[in-house]
Amino acid sequence: MVCPLCKKENSVLCYGHIRHDTNYKLVACDNCNLFYLNPFPTKMKIKSFYGSKYYYDNPVNDGVFATKSLLFFNSIKKYLPSGGCSLDVGCSKGFLSYFFKKHNFDAYGIDLSSKACSFARKIGVNAIASDLLNYNPNKKFDVITIIDLIEHVDEPQKVLKKANSLLKKGGLLIVSTPNIKSFYSKISKSNWAGFDLPFHIIYFSKDSLSFGLKNAGFKSNNFLTDSFNLISIEGLLRTNLNVYFGKLLEFFGLRTKFRQNFMLPKIKIVSKQKNIILGVKITIVDKLKMLINYPLNVIFNGLLLGDSLISISRK
Ligand SMILES: [Zn+2]
Repeated sequence: MVCPLCKKENSVLCYGHIRHDTNYKLVACDNCNLFYLNPFPTKMKIKSFYGSKYYYDNPVNDGVFATKSLLFFNSIKKYLPSGGCSLDVGCSKGFLSYFFKKHNFDAYGIDLSSKACSFARKIGVNAIASDLLNYNPNKKFDVITIIDLIEHVDEPQKVLKKANSLLKKGGLLIVSTPNIKSFYSKISKSNWAGFDLPFHIIYFSKDSLSFGLKNAGFKSNNFLTDSFNLISIEGLLRTNLNVYFGKLLEFFGLRTKFRQNFMLPKIKIVSKQKNIILGVKITIVDKLKMLINYPLNVIFNGLLLGDSLISISRK
């Protein structure tokens, strides 16, 4: 089979199974260094993974996603222009775009789910249901974000090229995806928390993402990583413990509750007539955790060893 990114055929075997799933192997492309599932799912099969019960339909996840979006926005804020037009690809309920809007952006979003888009519109995001490749707006954007999405697609090069074509000259593309060369990935091997089967079908490192971005026409790329947080339950769950502890939580149906209560700062979603106001309440314990993790995060994320790889590229 050919590499989903560079279309060359040679690959090397990395893992003969992923966790206990023997249906898939993980291979790495010899040419561009993209990691991908083998057998690689067909378009039909990929479509079948996303039933109505995928993330956007589960309101209990709202707090988690809103909080993640705010923390992510804060981490990229310093790279952004002071305003303009933003587009979030795979915007889901529009939380990330909401924070763009709060910072003087005319915020747009697209998502496959029309239900998610109608929620996003309620919080002031210009969201429409579309996939990126068929999206042809009559405007160009200053910033495009593709967050936790590219690892789900079978034609990543087309996605990056399309994003380039929708940007103004000098515009920014920000991509975030699991980092296959992270510290946790290296020590956890086939048990790494970033393996989310069958949804995540391709896995990037700085090399392969840089390859794809250059081919898509981007001039300069900056890379950073996020989500190290060793001294935290979240950090520990990115190691092998994830497999066993995660299973235990799932068995008792406590996984989401656990995420909400122990892993992320609390967010409240307050509905005031048509507008929904989001605010984050960070507890003393959360602040203490952030403080303790800070020096380790600086070092490990600085070495690009964090679990989320973030690229900031200019057209
Ligand atoms: Zn390749």
